[in-house]
Amino acid sequence: MSNSNRLRIAVQKSGRLSDDSIALLKAIGIKLQIRDRLLIAHSTNQDIDLLRVRDDDIPGLVMDGVADLGFIGENELEEKMLERQSANKTASFITLRRLDYGGCRLSIAVPNEFNYQSLASLEGKKVATTYPYLLERFFKDKGINAQAVMLTGSVEVAPRAGVADAICDLVSTGATLEANGLTEKDEVFVSKAVLIQKSGALSEEKQALIARLLPRMDGVLQAKE
Ligand code: ATP
Ligand code: ZN
Repeated sequence: MSNSNRLRIAVQKSGRLSDDSIALLKAIGIKLQIRDRLLIAHSTNQDIDLLRVRDDDIPGLVMDGVADLGFIGENELEEKMLERQSANKTASFITLRRLDYGGCRLSIAVPNEFNYQSLASLEGKKVATTYPYLLERFFKDKGINAQAVMLTGSVEVAPRAGVADAICDLVSTGATLEANGLTEKDEVFVSKAVLIQKSGALSEEKQALIARLLPRMDGVLQAKE
């Protein structure tokens, strides 16, 4: 592994957080040449490399100290933190900024014909989700005995397929839920994108670079308000 002095920033390679994260880096003066298929992108004017990965990998890369910084949704970050804590792995990081994009909520939704009165209606039921740790924590807090069923994709079709009674999935407009005959009932977690830093000391150069970048980021975020 290269022990680079360049600041390593993990960003989602392609998905809902990619464009806004790259746009923000460019807006604060970081010139980037991104080639679509490559894992690494080098900045041409700063000592910065981008690690372009699946968003699921970003919390772990930062918590394991492989990436210095990462742009990630709080939903994914919190889920991975709970997962690592339950496996007795270190799960520390520093949140530098909460950003103005990637907004969504993790919500429980039930089929339209489900006779839903309150959360207690989920007692003894199966709920399909990609976020079992967040969902189980929610059920525990609320004192509900329901079972989280892990699915990495196609969560919204699980009830129709007879795999689960309800779902817990990310929602922004609700159009996907509606298209699948589901009604949103309870909010489990509200999320935005955040910029995180690995815990533990960075080199003086890297820390100085971050200290120069953050005020510029604040300027860009304020200008958009
Ligand atoms: P990857 O291939 O990187 O694993 P993905 O399919 O897991 O991609 P995306 O759908 O691109 O991920 O979503 C990435 C993040 O964008 C989510 O974890 C969440 O923080 C945020 N997000 C914002 N709005 C939504 C939405 N409507 N649905 C899903 N995610 C959203
Ligand atoms: Zn993902």
